[in-house]
Amino acid sequence: MEIVAGVHRIEDLNGSNAVLLTGEQMAVVDTGVPGNGEAIVSYIKGIGRDPADLRWILLTHLHHDHSGSAAELHELTGAKIVAHEAETVRSADGRLLLRKGNEGESIPIWYRWMFGRRGRRRPASTQFHDTEVHETVAEGDVLPCLGGIRIIHAPGHTPGSICPLLQGPNVLFLGDSVLNNVDRLSRPLMWDRSRRRRLDASLRSLRDLEADVALFGHGPPLMEEVMDKVRGMTDRPYDLPTWRIVMRNRRTLRQFQESSRRPGHWQGGPRT
Ligand SMILES: [Zn+2]
Repeated sequence: MEIVAGVHRIEDLNGSNAVLLTGEQMAVVDTGVPGNGEAIVSYIKGIGRDPADLRWILLTHLHHDHSGSAAELHELTGAKIVAHEAETVRSADGRLLLRKGNEGESIPIWYRWMFGRRGRRRPASTQFHDTEVHETVAEGDVLPCLGGIRIIHAPGHTPGSICPLLQGPNVLFLGDSVLNNVDRLSRPLMWDRSRRRRLDASLRSLRDLEADVALFGHGPPLMEEVMDKVRGMTDRPYDLPTWRIVMRNRRTLRQFQESSRRPGHWQGGPRT
């Protein structure tokens, strides 16, 4: 589905959203979980483009539900995998790889008790395959695609999370730093207050941007009053003790727990 000219949300993938940018040279932002490579290639062919013109596979962050098909899409098209340096690690044999795993947070028992959240096991990071990163990006870099993709470093969700801004059509990619799948924009519920503080600072630094469309790692695009909504979200307190965050947001958190029990619902995690 073309959201705005040149910006396609590739439907029917598993995991996160994946977005194709059809400049002369093309880019894909995020890929979903493993197994989406062929579907992304056939989408590219379906709009009459040559998969060999895909130049960048840009990852908003390392998480497996976003990066899972990057390696296979690289195999299929030759496109370079691009991520922020803080998402990478050097392997023993000198290759630059995407770091693996989550940030090692576990859900407090009192939270499980309060919200009846069943223990959902995350796959161990050893189960993830290696993903080689071919190019790293940093704050202020611009990839020459569709008027320029400007890289904004937004640490918090992960140390190397980025919010790419597509400068031509003013489209802001918020990755998992902001979610749009409850009834308002929300931030991931992270148990470590220092991580919340970091994300809060990152999101506040976005307040003065101009964006007409916001895209998210999970959930539909936002096409109206984008920056008003982002600013409204950052007006709500986030740098608070965990119990206060949970109490203030218990209605939204309950709503999330309800919806996550429905089959086929992808969880980006609870959010506030
Ligand atoms: Zn994530």
